[in-house]
Amino acid sequence: EVMSKIAKRQGFTYESVQLNKFAHLQILKKKKFKQPTDLIGHTPLVELTHFDLPADVRLFAKLEMYNLGGSVKDRLGINLIESAIKRGEIRNEVVEATAGNTGIGLALACQQHNLALKVFLPEKFSIEKQAIMQALGAAIVHTDASLGMVEARRQAKAYADETGAYYANQFETEDNPASYEGLYQELKEELGTIDMMVAGAGSAGTFTGLAERMKPDGARAVIVEPEGSILNGGPSGSHRTEGIGVEVWPTFLKRDLIDAVETISDDDAFRMVQELAQKEGLLVGSSSGAAMVAALKQAENVQGNIVVIFPDASDRYISQKIFKSKGEL
Ligand code: PMP
Repeated sequence: EVMSKIAKRQGFTYESVQLNKFAHLQILKKKKFKQPTDLIGHTPLVELTHFDLPADVRLFAKLEMYNLGGSVKDRLGINLIESAIKRGEIRNEVVEATAGNTGIGLALACQQHNLALKVFLPEKFSIEKQAIMQALGAAIVHTDASLGMVEARRQAKAYADETGAYYANQFETEDNPASYEGLYQELKEELGTIDMMVAGAGSAGTFTGLAERMKPDGARAVIVEPEGSILNGGPSGSHRTEGIGVEVWPTFLKRDLIDAVETISDDDAFRMVQELAQKEGLLVGSSSGAAMVAALKQAENVQGNIVVIFPDASDRYISQKIFKSKGEL
């Protein structure tokens, strides 16, 4: 009954939230899918109840690991390819610079459309992601890890200029934020009112796509980066939290979309990954851990519903020792 009252105050019925938790399962039960890539999107939303929160706050996590290729970036991969096909810009090969999940999303989309994919990837990133990409048919070229994504991008662009391959260019194209229209629609339908959104920034496409749609509805938008990323004005440096962190300000990231930047240490992010496993049974990647730390810090600044985006799962970071943080739980 108390839950019903809280839910009503926030503009939705408790029953609708309970139902929506299972909406994706209903979709899976009721629908036959024509093709595997139809299993991108419609990911589950789950309420997290085992963390200390202010009494008037509820925290929901969007579990993007349930996309076909295992991350939020499947939404990007399919949209980048299908938008470019519609514009007639792709001949037969696609090239991109990525830390991994974009490569998997693109590999799925390219496999579906019979296109070749070449991925430029700084050497340090998880071998699991590389193995998955290769299994889907992508060719990988390693770039010098110490030169970061900037060097991977330079080489991807040079390859496109030289060969005429289509450069997907997630870091600059407006197709990137536009890929998250579906994610926004799902969240709006699932939650009704969204008072705060928390998302990490790698290319900042997820954050931008959600923030520009949610802020007009009144949500606060919190962007999350690891220490070693430059959004808060700090120096660029290495970090173990994978998938987030920017070396140069993303071209489509407008400052007035950002209500707060949270800069999270690797140790805090990795510790939170373990805590999420032990308290909630959720096995997420380190960027999800960082986003969760940020959401808990920001919970004091809001009343109502917080949604935090969990981009992927723990199992593609076993080689990165995701379950062995230095800090004690
Ligand atoms: N987390 C993970 C694990 C990712 O792979 C990415 C994409 N690099 C992000 C978060 C951030 O997404 P975006 O590029 O949309 O900022």
